[in-house]
Amino acid sequence: MADSEKQKINKFINLAGDFLGSGYRGEYQEQFEIDEEIPAIENGSVVEQPKAAEYLKVAEQLSDAEAKDNTPPESDDSLELIASQINSCRNCPLGNSRLNAAPGEGVSSPLVMVIGEGPGKEEDEQGRPFVGRAGQLLDKMLSAIDLSRETNCFIANIVKCRPPENRDPYPEEAAACAQFLNRQIIQLKPKFILAAGRIAAQTLLKTTEPIGKLRGKFKEFYIGDLIIPTIVTYHPAALLRFEEYKRPAWEDLKLLRSKIDE
Ligand code: URA
Repeated sequence: MADSEKQKINKFINLAGDFLGSGYRGEYQEQFEIDEEIPAIENGSVVEQPKAAEYLKVAEQLSDAEAKDNTPPESDDSLELIASQINSCRNCPLGNSRLNAAPGEGVSSPLVMVIGEGPGKEEDEQGRPFVGRAGQLLDKMLSAIDLSRETNCFIANIVKCRPPENRDPYPEEAAACAQFLNRQIIQLKPKFILAAGRIAAQTLLKTTEPIGKLRGKFKEFYIGDLIIPTIVTYHPAALLRFEEYKRPAWEDLKLLRSKIDE
């Protein structure tokens, strides 16, 4: 191995140590067939999660729903307008149960757009994406490959309002919110998308494939004339619960970095 390559790997390992912890040292398990279907537990009882197939069904109806939307033409649209419409949106029941919507934040011409699932408790309180424990881990993961919301990323979610009891968003909620995410992507024109977690991956890529099969390689996300290379990885909340996901997540991030550097 060339010295420059070794140096690069050492740099990565040092940078990543903070988020990988012991997960990096642990045995590398090849069998990441396990899907990341993490039950939401609220007040001791398990909250039922929607199934992937339901997302696909709704995603197939999306183009019709989008056509009916009277969104402004691209040239009149802006991130500020989208954010203000999100903040007053009542297109689905989440608009009535939220404290604050979390439209998204970051730079306006991002190298990478990170797309998660939906706000949690802290995000709902602050109106900002990924600011709780999972968000802090996400920031560390990004910084390990020289990315951050302050300098070169935009962070958003499939749904902009918190689903109650930390459940996954329902397909109808994701569909109601899709126009906002699509318009954000069109305005931002990110060079890459990082889909964090199963819901983001399956919704964006319109598939029911498990996350274990979607991660580890680049896919393409199409919108209008744009084709955006998209990489899927485990959700930081999953990494907090399952150390063994950290290693493959790190592999995904390295792959993203090497594609950026190409
Ligand atoms: N999880 C997400 O998917 N998004 C957030 O903003 C916070 C937690």
